[in-house]
Amino acid sequence: MIIKNDQSQVQSYLSDAANYRGFCDAVYFPESEKELTNIVIEANKNKTPITISGNGTGLTGGRVPEGGIVISTEKLNKIIEIDHAEKYAIVQPGVIMQEFQNIIEEQKLYYPPDPTETNCFIGATVATNASGAKTFKYGSTRNFVLALNIITADGDILYLERGKQKIYDYKLNLITQNSREINCIIPAYKMPETKNAAGYFCKRNMDAIDLFIGSEGTLGIITEIKLKLLDKPQNILSSIIFFDKEINALSFITEAREISYLSRKNSASNNIDALALEFFDSNTLSFLKKDYPQIPNYTRTAVWFEQEYTEATYDLLLNKWINLINKHNGDENTAWFAATNSEREKFKEFRHAVSWKVSEYIAQKNLMKVGTDTAVPDNVFIEFYNYAKELAYNSGMEYVAYGHFGNSHLHLNLLPKDNQEYEQAKYIYRLILEKAVSLDGTISAEHGIGKLKREYLLEMYGEKNIIKMARLKKCLDQNLLLGSGNIFDVKYCGFV
Ligand SMILES: Cc1cc2nc3c(=O)[nH]c(=O)nc-3n(C[C@H](O)[C@H](O)[C@H](O)COP(=O)(O)OP(=O)(O)OC[C@H]3O[C@@H](n4cnc5c(N)ncnc54)[C@H](O)[C@@H]3O)c2cc1C
Repeated sequence: MIIKNDQSQVQSYLSDAANYRGFCDAVYFPESEKELTNIVIEANKNKTPITISGNGTGLTGGRVPEGGIVISTEKLNKIIEIDHAEKYAIVQPGVIMQEFQNIIEEQKLYYPPDPTETNCFIGATVATNASGAKTFKYGSTRNFVLALNIITADGDILYLERGKQKIYDYKLNLITQNSREINCIIPAYKMPETKNAAGYFCKRNMDAIDLFIGSEGTLGIITEIKLKLLDKPQNILSSIIFFDKEINALSFITEAREISYLSRKNSASNNIDALALEFFDSNTLSFLKKDYPQIPNYTRTAVWFEQEYTEATYDLLLNKWINLINKHNGDENTAWFAATNSEREKFKEFRHAVSWKVSEYIAQKNLMKVGTDTAVPDNVFIEFYNYAKELAYNSGMEYVAYGHFGNSHLHLNLLPKDNQEYEQAKYIYRLILEKAVSLDGTISAEHGIGKLKREYLLEMYGEKNIIKMARLKKCLDQNLLLGSGNIFDVKYCGFV
């Protein structure tokens, strides 16, 4: 096994795409579950903190160590099995999402919940309950996880299958591979009904596997994942529409969302049923204009939508979309329609470019990301969006607003140019998060909390519930070694 402890060799493991920075003594690269288990057992003897690393595309500092050692999952990168008939895949955590997508698509299979950044590891997408554009139709990663193999904080093994190990009331009772019994209480708080990746997933009588999905490397190390797959759709209609007024783009999304919900309820394949509904404001389009000069000049806003179709439904669905575009004064003539898969990929790249350029911008300024990952209920989304945008606009600072608006999920990124603006940006950011919470929304719909957002989770759930999360962590990780500092400050594990 490779172990790197020369500081010049570990630098790339000390930050992530949010530009959050940390420090560690060494990075370990296990090539088998046995090697990984031995590292954990040894770390327990020495009380050495462990941070698990995926591919470092996270946006909250989750994989960034604050001391101790890092375990990189990059050598655990095998696709163990793809079962076409039963429609599942079993993978190790270090499999790169894009490579997985390429392989299953060749076999006419489909895995919808991929994040915009497909250079991530599948294990990390489970650890953060990641989402992507297609989450509008298919939900987050959680919906596709059938089973997990997990190394516990003391080096034991848990194999959890969906539907098999239940939490009774709020009592978690599990038996490890070494026949050790785990008995813990999970917190009884009310989670937002929006898309959500903030804090531990806890519900009365839920599947135990759901506790570990989205636990951000704090409750166990995921070493094998069984994922549900679907049949690849025949075709996907993909289009970017430009609007000269933002209000038109927002009403277009609202109506497309409502029709989509109705189509799903009625299992109607002959009506609008968006796979993705993504939004770009005028600042975002200006931010992209240098790389995409073909963006029409007068444009104030754009919407990217996708829908699955068959040859039989193509004409009908295209007509319905064009009618909707015209109804909301979208510009049919300047719209981009993907005629081929490679054109469709370019639209995905257009969306990815926004997030990527934001990460690049903050790294150049040597600052950290100040970007919302908030979702609120659909009926208050426009109110929330206007509030957030007005704050950003009035600050005089540069910003871009975009996101998964189908899910009422806003990424508003402030782009401070120096430390003074950075402090101002954090103030505005806090106000936006407070508003999301006051509207029964979440401060993190998909990126998780990591270290960057833990102080805001305190505002979302309150200290009493953070202490309940800390008690649960202590119950599963007595020496507080795994991913400590993610989700909440480790001081809460002393129960404050
Ligand atoms: C341009 C860009 C666009 C993005 N778009 C999206 C998006 O649309 N949706 C979205 O959800 N995210 C998005 N992200 C964030 C990021 O890609 C996801 O959070 C992704 O899941 C992180 O994967 P990673 O391999 O880089 O993980 P890392 O950043 O390395 O780690 C993320 C977290 O997972 C934990 N972890 C990793 N592996 C394991 C394991 N095996 N067991 C236990 N814990 C583990 C780590 O400790 C850490 O807390 C985007 C990021 C960028 C840069």
